[in-house]
Amino acid sequence: MPATSVDSSGRDEVVPAAQAEAERSRQRPVSLLQRLQKRYPVVSIVRAAKVSRWLSGRRGQSAPEGRPVKTYEYDDRYFRKQHCAVSQTAIKLVVLHSTEGPTAEGGAITLSGSSDVSAHLCVGEGVTYRIVPEWLGSCTVQEPNDWTLNIEQVGFAAWSRKKWLRHLNTIKRAAFWTAWWCKKHKLPRRFRNTKALDAGKIRGYTTHAQLSLSKWSSSTHTDPGPNYPLFGKVSFRALLLYYRGRIAAGLKPRQAA
Ligand SMILES: [Zn+2]
Repeated sequence: MPATSVDSSGRDEVVPAAQAEAERSRQRPVSLLQRLQKRYPVVSIVRAAKVSRWLSGRRGQSAPEGRPVKTYEYDDRYFRKQHCAVSQTAIKLVVLHSTEGPTAEGGAITLSGSSDVSAHLCVGEGVTYRIVPEWLGSCTVQEPNDWTLNIEQVGFAAWSRKKWLRHLNTIKRAAFWTAWWCKKHKLPRRFRNTKALDAGKIRGYTTHAQLSLSKWSSSTHTDPGPNYPLFGKVSFRALLLYYRGRIAAGLKPRQAA
């Protein structure tokens, strides 16, 4: 991954000149590519153009609520206000969800105010709300509540992959926190599907859908849906690896000013 910087809008940008030029010239990609190919190796240009388009977040919908905070920043206005939590025994698994609602603030209000539902985080395009503290289990996945950390992403299980990728800033936030928690709690950065979970491989990360189908949970939820972009060149997994590197280099969560 090329050198990166974080701009004031909170988006992580890949900055090499060729990528910046590719960004500016999206109206005439063919001629630009031809010109760049004369000057640089083909592979690097194609790769740079692909990476910059999604890592800069410009394919994402830029509709944050209020002032957007950086990917690694959190907003604590709903922190520890939950009405449902359980005492936690040990953290073994990070679980990805979709809120099935349109806004992060609406999600945070429900997850902090409901008597039977909560989560550790609610992430949207421009904000990360912390709700349940890590030392408690949230009311999100039934029986595994006391050994999981749960991230609610603003979105819908019915979304297509394309639709999810238009909300890449939301996925980035989920990937950053999963990478952070995997490091902090010494969890492998491994996706655990139902088969792995049933075989006892429960340390890592999964989705609510996979956990529901496993022997561990009586939940019937299917979020974040079959088209959630877990894997691929532009995916949760790719972002998780990216943030693993950034975190190893010193990036950490911080409360938004
Ligand atoms: Zn869920």
